[in-house]
Amino acid sequence: MISFDNALKTILDSVKGPFGSERIGILESLGRVLAQDIHSDGDLPAFDYSAMDGYALIASDTKGASVDSGIRLEVAGEFRAGGDTSSKVQAGRVVKIMTGAPIPEGADAVVMVENTKEDSGIVEVLEEVESGKNIRFAGEEIKKGALVLEKGSLIEPAHIGMLASLGVSIVTVAKRPKVAILTTGDEVISIEDKMEPGKIRNSNSYALFTQVVANCGMPANKGVAKDNRESLKNALKSCLDSDIIVTSGGVSMGEYDYVKDVINELGMDEKFWKVAMRPGKPNLFGVIDGKPFFGLPGNPVSTMIGFELFVRPTIMKMLGRKGGDRIEVEALLEEDIKTKKGLTFFVRAVTEWKDGGYVTRTTGLQGSGMLSSMVKANSLMIIPEEEVTVKKGSKVKVRLLS
Ligand code: AMP
Ligand code: MG
Repeated sequence: MISFDNALKTILDSVKGPFGSERIGILESLGRVLAQDIHSDGDLPAFDYSAMDGYALIASDTKGASVDSGIRLEVAGEFRAGGDTSSKVQAGRVVKIMTGAPIPEGADAVVMVENTKEDSGIVEVLEEVESGKNIRFAGEEIKKGALVLEKGSLIEPAHIGMLASLGVSIVTVAKRPKVAILTTGDEVISIEDKMEPGKIRNSNSYALFTQVVANCGMPANKGVAKDNRESLKNALKSCLDSDIIVTSGGVSMGEYDYVKDVINELGMDEKFWKVAMRPGKPNLFGVIDGKPFFGLPGNPVSTMIGFELFVRPTIMKMLGRKGGDRIEVEALLEEDIKTKKGLTFFVRAVTEWKDGGYVTRTTGLQGSGMLSSMVKANSLMIIPEEEVTVKKGSKVKVRLLS
């Protein structure tokens, strides 16, 4: 039996990094991973402009101005965003200016309209402003040529806005790995079928499918294989055109658990089978045709956690994602918990910020078939192999799931 840490290392060592990229429109790029560095083609902002509606002027002209003793200046023109910009500012003269309009030649500050009174071509300035006030300067945010977005970043709405402001309409993103999902089990029925004694609805295909989507993979549902060699062999063969293969069930010690035998017959290089962890000890991993194969146990929680802990990092590596690891924090345990020596426990937990620190508690019953404990969880406590009981009030490591 391999430790959890070694299992993850084995997986990541046998998976190659980014395996391809494609060019797509920025509106299609949400949730994808950037596969190029993005540099600025110019200064941002491109020109000095006003941050306020008001009057562009020479700051020294406002010296001594206050509400009780305004300074009267002549209005020599008006600049609106995107409008005419021929007027200049000279001593004693101002240009009326709208937010976003370029600063007129000669001006070095803007006074807000709220601190002025205008009457027939004369404005009374009611506050003293210093040079530079209310001006956004060219290049103050980003200099021409600067690295703005880094290869490996996850593209979110702000990134898309930034790409647009840099004039980038088409962007290079990592190709999404195609992930085959195959469920096994004679008892597993389709969710549309009538429930019958001894049957169980196929939840794993759905949970796995959406875990793949949520992690920027491309799911390919390969259905449900029966617990016999023939059915499994055909179904597994149909998975081999994918970049990653994930199966659920049929990988334990049972009489009818054939996944390991059959995939090995098909030529898989088996790396490990059992991992010292709970939930999900019978976890098979190997490489077939250069593709990672994950044989996850069938219990719905074991399947989902196996995906989260093993398949997700694999997808991240194949995407070339930087900073994609889940965040881990220390949290104060709000109840006693018992685990088993020699197994790393991943305990479904609710973790929240309270009084200046994280606190965490279990979501209740932890059976590996109990999906309700996953539904409630926003995190997993990670209890190391050597622990057996962890007392209320101890600090535990918690991995946040979103
Ligand atoms: P196995 O790993 O095949 O021994 O399955 C372990 C448990 O998970 C059994 O109770 C199965 O009925 C259940 N199970 C297997 N596949 C699925 C599935 N696709 N959806 C829901 N439960 C499943
Ligand atoms: Mg089974």
